[in-house]
Amino acid sequence: MNHSELWKATLGELETVLSKAVFKSFFSHAQLGKTENNRIEIIVGSEYIADQISKKFYGLLKSTIDRISKDNIDIQFKIEKKEVQTNVEDLPLFNDIQKKSQTVSKDIFEDTGLIPKYTFESFIVGPSNRLAHAIATAVSENPGKVYNPFFLHAGVGLGKTHLMQAIGNAVLKQNPKAKVVYATAETFMNELIEAIQAGRNKNYTANKFRDKFRKTDVLLIDDIQFIAGRGEATQEEFFHTFNALYMSQKQIVLTSDRPPKELSKLDVRITSRFSSGIVADMQKPDSETRSAILREKRDLMRETIPNHVVDFIAQSIETNIRELEGNFLQIITRAKTEGQDLTIEYCAKFLGQNIDKPVVNVNELLKTVCAYYNIKITDLKGKSRVKEYVVPRQVSMYLLKKFTNTPYMVIGDILGGRDHTTIMHGTEKVEQELSLDTKIKVDVSNIKRTLNISA
Ligand code: ADP
Ligand code: MG
Repeated sequence: MNHSELWKATLGELETVLSKAVFKSFFSHAQLGKTENNRIEIIVGSEYIADQISKKFYGLLKSTIDRISKDNIDIQFKIEKKEVQTNVEDLPLFNDIQKKSQTVSKDIFEDTGLIPKYTFESFIVGPSNRLAHAIATAVSENPGKVYNPFFLHAGVGLGKTHLMQAIGNAVLKQNPKAKVVYATAETFMNELIEAIQAGRNKNYTANKFRDKFRKTDVLLIDDIQFIAGRGEATQEEFFHTFNALYMSQKQIVLTSDRPPKELSKLDVRITSRFSSGIVADMQKPDSETRSAILREKRDLMRETIPNHVVDFIAQSIETNIRELEGNFLQIITRAKTEGQDLTIEYCAKFLGQNIDKPVVNVNELLKTVCAYYNIKITDLKGKSRVKEYVVPRQVSMYLLKKFTNTPYMVIGDILGGRDHTTIMHGTEKVEQELSLDTKIKVDVSNIKRTLNISA
């Protein structure tokens, strides 16, 4: 099979698996570009489409192509707009994403302590961090005006530094002349001590310290709990820095691993100021958010790991995002050095887990369900709510969720563009029926047998 046949067959399958509207919006204009042995380029018409495909349908696309070709195909996207091309658009999607997050030129980062990759664009929002994110964006749009100071607290590895840095990066992007300083509380203290020591000989060093921290438009101090309980000089200097900025309506953002009231060793003159601004926290992300975060990391790293594998890792690690990311990197590196494919089985072994979920191909699952109930795929995905279709549809929802590691949202797309709440409802419905002795129970167990699912 040559590349163009492979691409045709892939489109054919996607057309049967996805709803008409979804297929039309994202794949109907996609074209095959340059190809090489196990590498293909797919040309799409806009960044948006490339972005959506890579976020929502990448796993499906990759697994379909790999299955048809019986190979591990590296997929690259190329954006070809109808309008005049610029060089940037010649880059593959993933370069493009990275480029986007680095549009602020390098030199203005000097001395800011900011890391360009920590942006709002690369920060995934979910129920656990929605409020903090909303405040952070408001702060970045109107520094010093709306919420000042902004005190952000959350457990370790839950995105405090990322979100705080995103504020700084966004401010600089809008106004490259703004003076933004990011420092950890520890750096603040160390530089203060250095300044005090040097100041004994040359007075200007102490001034340099004050210039750095007091002549800013936005001051970001990370892990403020570090200052609590430190020597008087540190707390005193911090208090004056804080005051100087606050009085001149400059933005202050602080993070901590605990809420203000638990910072008992911090000078009350400082803590009492927090109440004049806003305090927000972030919680551990739920499993859908963890999946979204890990998929984003994969894309930024230009890795081609299928969604169901990424989702499996995301579901397995609940502690915090740093650990999630760390394990993800380790798994990728290990699999590469061992020359192994990154499968769910491989990940499960790495994470020391037993998998009780066999993994099934989406397309095959839908075909099997339709064959069992003797209905057409189009009816399965269609709008009709007659019982002959509703039952197979709900059974598909249940089986897809349980045995393909596909998130509710994507199942909704696969089953004709339905809302994720509909999918959740359908899945629950079938689960309830299974606990009773109904026909559905018999159906499900027959379909599972056909699919070789023993669990
Ligand atoms: P903290 O400062 O709270 O200990 P970090 O900000 O260092 O945590 O986050 C740890 C890692 O997790 C970073 O690599 C960061 O990019 C990532 N991370 C945290 N939250 C998110 C999010 N909502 N979206 C994407 N990445 C995130
Ligand atoms: Mg941090």
